[in-house]
Amino acid sequence: MRPGEVFIVGAGPGDPELITLKALRRIREADVILYDRLANEELLQYAKPEAELVYCGKAPGAHSMPQKQINRKLAAYALEGKTVVRLKGGDPFIFGRGGEEALELAAQGIPCEVIPGVTSAVGAAASAGIPLTHRGLSASVAFVTGKRCQDSEAPPRWDLLAQAVDTLVIYMGVGKLAEIRAELLRHGKLDSTPVALIERGTTASQRVVTGTLANIHKLAESTKVTNPALIVVGEVARVREQLLALEAEADLRIG
Ligand code: SAH
Repeated sequence: MRPGEVFIVGAGPGDPELITLKALRRIREADVILYDRLANEELLQYAKPEAELVYCGKAPGAHSMPQKQINRKLAAYALEGKTVVRLKGGDPFIFGRGGEEALELAAQGIPCEVIPGVTSAVGAAASAGIPLTHRGLSASVAFVTGKRCQDSEAPPRWDLLAQAVDTLVIYMGVGKLAEIRAELLRHGKLDSTPVALIERGTTASQRVVTGTLANIHKLAESTKVTNPALIVVGEVARVREQLLALEAEADLRIG
């Protein structure tokens, strides 16, 4: 039997309307959907009634399905001739392990297509009113992970990032905010550098906490920011306040 195709699909950052038409079509056509914790479950309503839905994320108090097991399952379903969707939060190739899955499938000769999604940095920045690049303030942006999966992996080059990149968006970093802040300060970022924390960006329960490198760790503690959340470091974080102030002014004028 010819193997079925696997689609590694980006579900977008949280708001289900931020999925692409192509992704939605693949969800509608899938025989099996393996989905992650960060993929909005509302999207599963578009699946065929007979589609098999397999949760691969972390249940409260339990471990998530190991990557090896996910890879095995993806291949096994495809080898049964099924059309498989692997649904992931944000974009599959931005800290989504989509590359590992694609390589594994390719090695087994299983056809695979990657469908991009709006990564949470882009989605959350938009809904928080923070342009990641901005004329005069930021000519470059880097997506950085705050955590490495294995201790053997080298940490991000905070020394270079602090100096060479205008806007840093740090994924999986809120748990390590104090350390990250210390690294950036040690490598020359100013105390006064604006920082925004965006929790559950693009969802109805989005929260944004803003401060500077001087106080952001304290603010995170007092406001209890938790995952999923992003850290945005750079002058652009100030644009949010400008937008909010202008919007409030306009409301006063009109209202
Ligand atoms: N592939 C995903 C990232 C997965 S890594 C993407 O492209 O967005 C998981 C991390 O993504 C979280 O720890 C958090 O830092 C970030 N994240 C995912 N969804 C988020 C959201 N709605 N708001 C803020 N951060 C989010």
